[in-house]
Amino acid sequence: MTGAEALREAVLRLRAAGIEGAPGDARRLLAHALGLAPERLTLHLGDPLSEAEARAFAAAVASREARRPVSQIVGYRDFHGHRFRVTGAVLDPRPETELLVDLALAEPVARMLDLGTGSGCILLSCLAGMAAAEGEGADLSPAALEVAEANARALGLDRRARFLLSDWFSAVTGRFGLIVSNPPYIAEAEMEGLAPEVRGWEPHLALTPGGDGLGAYRAIVAGAGAHLEAGGRILMEIGPAQGAAVAGMLAAAGFAGVEVRRDLDGRDRVVAGRWPGGGG
Ligand code: GLN
Repeated sequence: MTGAEALREAVLRLRAAGIEGAPGDARRLLAHALGLAPERLTLHLGDPLSEAEARAFAAAVASREARRPVSQIVGYRDFHGHRFRVTGAVLDPRPETELLVDLALAEPVARMLDLGTGSGCILLSCLAGMAAAEGEGADLSPAALEVAEANARALGLDRRARFLLSDWFSAVTGRFGLIVSNPPYIAEAEMEGLAPEVRGWEPHLALTPGGDGLGAYRAIVAGAGAHLEAGGRILMEIGPAQGAAVAGMLAAAGFAGVEVRRDLDGRDRVVAGRWPGGGG
């Protein structure tokens, strides 16, 4: 069987499993099984698959039929121009989160903190774009911290990034010019409605704080002022309906210049604020 034939069969199976974007997923999985970069796959579609390649592809397709995310099957996700290792211990980096990185890079700092760093994709993308900056990534999950550390090493950023086991600010000391976070923000009642890939395969710790979905923001906003330099900024990703609530928390805690920014789909995605002082 050639790659093209195997691909056709896989697309049918993935479609039957209810997967949107089945052709793209099948191509990424076949490239993975063949050990090829996805953009080189077309050149090799006429070649017959070896037995080992066919077996590897069949296993990957079966995994995807069970709604395992492609990133967990192939082991990585590209985000903000870098490749990040992804396992079931971390949130799959999402393209809309790149907005948070872009807003951070607009004002480089010397020291930054990422709360709930997961794969480290936000912190490491920021550090890659801020020459000489140092950063700390905090997470409550030891397994996530291992992934973040591996990503820092792979990107050559391990000398500028430090990772710590911390329940929000519990193990964090000192002040930073920037605090970023993509915390869990899905309300408990909304978990049921998530795609099977998310609900069944991504860490619930990274998705929901339980309750109304705002608990993580309450904890972060309560501690942020004590960990920001005068004029320092906070940038937090939010769910599309949470802008007013989270902006209100920041304003009530004394932040200035609080604003809600929209992603490319026009949905509220990031709330920003500045800790007063410092002429900023
Ligand atoms: N954006 C993710 C989703 O909707 C949720 C991530 C989060 O809770 N921080 O699946």
